[in-house]
Amino acid sequence: MKNIHKNVIFLGLFCACLAMPGAWEDHSTLSFTALSATELENRHVAIRSLSDFVNDNEAGLEKLFAELEDWCAKNIKDYPPLPKELSFSENSSVSPEQRIMMALRVNPDYKIRYYRKAIPEETASGGVELPFAELAHTVYNYEGAHFYSHEAGDSMDALSVLATASDEPDYGLDIGLFKDNDSWYGKLYGFGEQSFGDPRLVYGSQAPFHMGFYNEAGIVYAAAPSMKRVYPELRTVQFSRLARFAMAAGEDYWAYRFMGWGLHYLQDQLMPYHASIMPGSSAAYLVWVGLLDIMGVHGPYNKVLKEVSDKHMLLELLQLQILYDAYKDKAKGNVILAALQGKSDKREAYEISHLSKKAGKASKKAGNSISKALGKIIKNKAAFESINTLYEVKGRDIYSVAYEPGTKQYQVFESILLDLLENVGAYSRAWLDYCLSD
Ligand SMILES: [Zn+2]
Repeated sequence: MKNIHKNVIFLGLFCACLAMPGAWEDHSTLSFTALSATELENRHVAIRSLSDFVNDNEAGLEKLFAELEDWCAKNIKDYPPLPKELSFSENSSVSPEQRIMMALRVNPDYKIRYYRKAIPEETASGGVELPFAELAHTVYNYEGAHFYSHEAGDSMDALSVLATASDEPDYGLDIGLFKDNDSWYGKLYGFGEQSFGDPRLVYGSQAPFHMGFYNEAGIVYAAAPSMKRVYPELRTVQFSRLARFAMAAGEDYWAYRFMGWGLHYLQDQLMPYHASIMPGSSAAYLVWVGLLDIMGVHGPYNKVLKEVSDKHMLLELLQLQILYDAYKDKAKGNVILAALQGKSDKREAYEISHLSKKAGKASKKAGNSISKALGKIIKNKAAFESINTLYEVKGRDIYSVAYEPGTKQYQVFESILLDLLENVGAYSRAWLDYCLSD
């Protein structure tokens, strides 16, 4: 069985093969819309550098990180302990920034910048533009995204801090964290070999931190045990605790930035293609095509793998287009913006296990209907089959692949997308309450 285990693991390869960020496109605009009518409105904070935050809160952070490690060891199944020499209290030989980043086990080569991500269709000048190539650790085509540079001491509104930060984990925070990645820190971090996917693909190395396969059937874990080694929940625990700590310490800028970082992983989990290995296929089928592949019959495996990966991309590109179009014509796009803002003032409560148990379960379930709706919205099969090249095309037109708004096929898809976006909005507000509570 050992070989079978090893080989079936590759069922997960597709999800890490994407050369682009994955999950929702433009978390900032989703967060900004979902949180715009909350207590964040009109709240301003002064930007503080990360090194000042660390230096001025050293004793408190030592205690916080010790408690965090304790909590994770007791509550997260198969938690890989933080190597002692990287703990916040032991690691005194590096810069304050690297010290906290290594205690969190994020990419210590990711350069912390101070900036704001623009919301689509902004008219006023946002100041000096910061090119994405200067910001991201690994650059990709991020069409329509604009960033404005800031520095420590500047005032920024809290909603923008949080919304901007909620996109940031995709810029490289989780790249190269495994021992078989080509990085100096992956060897130190204790996460072992990359859980799934090709460890040589730089961007793919972040996938086990942004995808949470928490609700697969036992047969899938039996065939591919490493699918359990996923860490979005760890990230939400780390960043919610840090956010609360920062807020209590009067470090409001970092409280909102950490809140945004944590929100990213929660929103990722609400994307069906990040909560399930193969949305639209049964567990038995998943294992079956894996076994056939091992026996040398590669056709069914390759076919399903490509289809899932292409639908994942189609959903992301459609969502981005629909969101940007909604901002372009707010009257027409109101249904999209209203879904994110929520229908009632009632706020759901968030608990830490919601990521894997509640949010993850609902998202996995939604995988079937979204997979079917995506199948029906495809207008041009040949264009769909080469969709992975479309991402990098400047000025791409997703409606060359899919039926456009106004058609019957689009309506079915839209109603499911609205449910997903409603969920993103409701969870984003629940997350804000959770991080702001004592
Ligand atoms: Zn992500």
